[in-house]
Parts: sequence; C-alpha cells; structure tokens
Amino acid sequence: MNIGIVGAGISGLYTGLLLQREGHKVTIFEASDRVGGRIYTYRFPLQRRFESGVSEEDVSAHGRSELDTSSGAYFEAGAMRIPRSSLHSQVFDLVRYLNTYGPAEKKVELIPYILDHENNLSFFQNKKGRLQDTRWAAKAGLPEQFHGNSAQELLGSVVLPWLTKLRTNFDSGFEELLKYDEYSFRAYLRLVARWPHEVVDFVELLCSQTNQYDLSFTEIIMQNLDFDTQEWATVKGGMSRITECAATILGSDNIHLGSRVERISYVDDGRVELGIEGDPDQIATFDAVVLAMPPSALHTIVDRPKWSFMKEQSIRGTHFEPLYKIGLHFRTRFWEKSSTPALGGQSTTDLRFRWIVYPSNDIGGDGSGVLLLYSWMTDAMKWAGLSPEERIKICLHDLNKFYADEPDINVYDQYIEAYDVLWMNEFCGGDAMFLPGQFSRYHHVAKQPERNVYFAGEHLSKHHTWIAGAVDSALNTTAAILGKQAQFHSGKAVDKPVTIIPLGREHVPLEEESSRVMEENVAPMMDISSRLLKAFIIPRHMNVQVSCISLSLACTSWLQLVSE
Ligand SMILES: Cc1cc2nc3c(=O)[nH]c(=O)nc-3n(C[C@H](O)[C@H](O)[C@H](O)COP(=O)(O)OP(=O)(O)OC[C@H]3O[C@@H](n4cnc5c(N)ncnc54)[C@H](O)[C@@H]3O)c2cc1C
Repeated sequence: MNIGIVGAGISGLYTGLLLQREGHKVTIFEASDRVGGRIYTYRFPLQRRFESGVSEEDVSAHGRSELDTSSGAYFEAGAMRIPRSSLHSQVFDLVRYLNTYGPAEKKVELIPYILDHENNLSFFQNKKGRLQDTRWAAKAGLPEQFHGNSAQELLGSVVLPWLTKLRTNFDSGFEELLKYDEYSFRAYLRLVARWPHEVVDFVELLCSQTNQYDLSFTEIIMQNLDFDTQEWATVKGGMSRITECAATILGSDNIHLGSRVERISYVDDGRVELGIEGDPDQIATFDAVVLAMPPSALHTIVDRPKWSFMKEQSIRGTHFEPLYKIGLHFRTRFWEKSSTPALGGQSTTDLRFRWIVYPSNDIGGDGSGVLLLYSWMTDAMKWAGLSPEERIKICLHDLNKFYADEPDINVYDQYIEAYDVLWMNEFCGGDAMFLPGQFSRYHHVAKQPERNVYFAGEHLSKHHTWIAGAVDSALNTTAAILGKQAQFHSGKAVDKPVTIIPLGREHVPLEEESSRVMEENVAPMMDISSRLLKAFIIPRHMNVQVSCISLSLACTSWLQLVSE
C-alpha cells in the first residue's frame, strides 16, 4: 500500500516505522521544520556557552557539532521523562528498536530521570519546607480532622483504592471509573469523598496545578496511575534523539518538512488526496491516509470532508490543557551547590511558575546548566498575555525569592538567557486532558476511521499526555489499516483484529510471547489499555543494543492474521 501520514510527531513516526516494517510505502508530511512535535529538546546556541565556560580548546577537542548537540545547555521544552512501568513498556521497546536499526551516531541512551530528590524543598506562603510535611494542613487553616496528614496522604486516601482496582484488572477497573466519568475530580472529592472546598484547594495546590481538579475524574485517576512509578528514565543528550533516530530510519526522502497539509479529499477511485499549503501543484494521492495530529490542528485544515456528527463534535470539543515551560540558562548549576543541594527532582511552590524541575542530565557538572520552570492549566494560561521579556522578568523575580534564604545565590548574576514555549499557542493547544464526560462521549468515536482516513495521536489513547499513549494509538491505527487490507485481499470479513507486534518486540521468541499471554492473561493484541497490570519494572539494560536479525525475516514472521 501507499500510505500518507500527516504529522511527524511520535504517533506519525511510529505509524510510519510500523508500516514500513510491514513492507508498505509511507510518505510523511510535517508542517514545521523539525520532526518530533511535542517531543522537543531545545538546545541553547553554542556561542552563548563560551560566556559560561566552554572554551576554544573544548571545541577543538570535541568538535563544534558534538558540543552543540551532545551535553550541556539544553532542556526539554516538551516531553522529558518516561516512567519505567508496564504501561510505558512500548516506549522502551521503541528505544530498543531504534538502537537496533538506527545508525550508531543516533543511538538513544537512557539515563535515570529523578522525579523526587530528598533535598527538594517546597515553598508556600513565603516559607520553605518539605512537601510531605504534615503541618502544612494546619498552617493552611483546614478543618481539624484533616490536620496531621500531608497533601499527598490526603490525595492517596481517595486515589489509591482506584489505582489498586486498575492494577488488578485494568479493563474492569476502567469500566468502573467510567461510572463517575460525568464528574469532575473536584465534584467527586466534594460529593463522594465529602471534602470541604478548602481541603480540595489545598490538595490541588500542593499535588497538582490550579483548576486541574475541574477535569474529569477518569482523567485525574489515569494521570495518578501513570505517575505512580518509582523509577523513571530520560534520554542522554535530549528526548529529541528518539524522534530524530526514528526519522533517520524512515529516510529523509520519505519525510517532507515544512509541508502543512491544508486539503484532504476522497477521490473517485477510493483513494485519498492531500494538498499542501502554498503549493497548488503539490497534490499527492494515497491508498490510505493517517492523520497523526491533534484535533486543534485537524480543525484548522482549510478543506476536508465532513464526517459524522459525533466525530466532528470530538474534533471540536476534545479538551486540551494549556502547558508552559521556560528553560533558564545559568552560568553554574547553583541549585546543586545550595545548602540543600537538589540533585534532580522537582520543587512545588505557590510562586507563579509553580514547579521548578532540576535537570537529571549532567548532574555534578561544572559547566552551565538549565533550570526548567513548568506550569499547567490556569497557571500556564496566565503567561500567555505577557511578552517574553515580562515572562522572564517575573520568573527571575520569583526564583530569586525562592533562593532568598541562600546568601551565596544571586539568580540575576547567574542568568545568561532563556527560551520558553507556550504550548497552548502552538498547533496542538497543549496536551489532551478530558473534561467530565469526554471519555464516555469521545474516546470511541474519535479513533474510528472515516473510510480510508485513519486517526492517530496521544488524545486517542487512554493514556493522554504521554508518549506511550501516542504509541498505543499508532499501534491500534496500524492494526486497523492492515486489517482492512487483509479483508480487501481475502474478500472476507476479518472477524478478529490483526496482531501487530510493537516495534522492538520482534526479537522476543514467539513461544515466550504466547506463554506470557497465557500466564499473564494478557490480550495478544498489543493495547496497553487491555493488559493486566502487574508490577513490571523495565530493566535498566533495555537501552543496550541487541543483536540484529534480518528485518524482513522479523516482519514477515510477526505479521500474523489471526483469522487465517
Ligand atoms: C510540555 C509537555 C510535556 C510533556 N511531558 C511528557 C513526558 O514527560 N513524558 C511523556 O511520555 N509525554 C510527555 N508529554 C506528552 C507527549 O509529548 C505527547 O503525548 C506526544 O509527543 C504526542 O505525540 P503525537 O504524535 O500524538 O502529537 P504531536 O507530537 O503533537 O505531533 C503532531 C505533529 O503534527 C504536525 N502537524 C499539525 N498540523 C499539521 C498539518 N496540517 N500538516 C502537517 N503536519 C501537521 C505538528 O507540527 C506535529 O509535529 C508532554 C507534552 C508536553 C507538551
């Protein structure tokens, strides 16, 4: 088949790799001048780094391009961490695939990501302390029966029973969650848990971001499930190495950057035509098309077919939460030399930026470093009306306040430069986070194909806001395309979905996979949402290159039509 893919985010690239592995021709159209979408490592330009300690000798020793792209002054403006849990195992499988088939210089090396560090201090109402401190509740004036608990313990009392249900049996646990889908998390805490308003606000402030508890109950429980992981990973040199390596394997001839698709139409012979912005002659026709893009981007395509009522509603209505990230480049990694050195992890605060993320890369280095300030929801929206200079001014002001008790730290003296991304102003509008009722209304219809136009993206999975969700959706979409093809060729209905092996699982012997299926009672269709979730930590050595077997052999043996 000849398949067109719109969007070179991780869902588009993953779909492309799968289809290419199965022997199909893929062409990817990407509106921007880079691949990766919401996986975006921003690298501060090299010349700035001379001011902060990179010498001419360093350049001659390592080469300019290596210094530019390897270590040092970068931060994750998009995705930054991967939980080492069974829910995200397909991302680790993908890394294994990339390291097997990608060139050595594009190798994706995983390093630990530190979610919490023992020295991470919080800052509320002008005081520093530990987030776990049980005295915050009394200080915030909560009713007495809530004193003596940390915000995390209060949240856990409501959330943990739900996480246990989901871990015991995801499908039945999720069905049960959906009974409360019309509730916001706030409504559940008020009406079911019977918490007073101030307790809800207290827990939201310390454990989340402003107004996030007005999202659906289902969404917040799923977010807690994904975050409830001890070990995490990130990529040495930046997360964009994942998408850059994927693009290299796909081949630059098959990816068209700077090519915004603005027209989609069905043609009489049953194929689909794509038109590219600014070039009336650039029209390409495909057997099938995958729209691997968020609904806001889909909504702005100038001319496309009108689909069913609820499909259009899902495109119009799917809620995305605003996200804001600013990377502040400093001369030294002063946070690692403070009286409570923060070696990775995160601080929570009621200051306007809400979270400080201490980098997990290059810990202990003596060069410059980048602190990341991160806001979501209403806290993120507040930055949108300000100029970049005003945003930097407020961030430095509040950061200086955070470090006011450290006489040796002057944030202003340390500052070199900043770069920020208001994700709500980008093509995507942020990350999918459903409003009450949206799982029930949209989750099914949004991912259904419309003739031979298919859909992919994190918003179509149950794991919104995660790379794993985008990958999960790409797998389901590819299985649907190949199922349709099998039906066409055999002339009979395929009554079971095709089994498609995720990228990087090719090397697991069939017997091992099928015994795993039987022992763990997991569905052979690789949908992370339908697995029994047992404790399954991805071992650290998963990023090690595995021995390579013939790609074509792997492809033909794994694509099995269950109906045959
Ligand atoms: C700030 C932030 C932090 C995050 N942190 C994490 C994290 O720590 N861990 C994690 O796992 N996930 C994280 N995520 C989520 C993760 O990045 C996303 O779920 C995932 O990258 C989404 O991939 P996608 O392919 O669905 O969409 P996208 O990455 O949005 O890709 C869509 C692509 O389509 C292109 N496009 C749009 N319109 C058109 C058009 N008309 N024509 C052609 N191309 C078009 C876009 O330019 C884009 O490249 C984070 C996201 C953000 C924004």
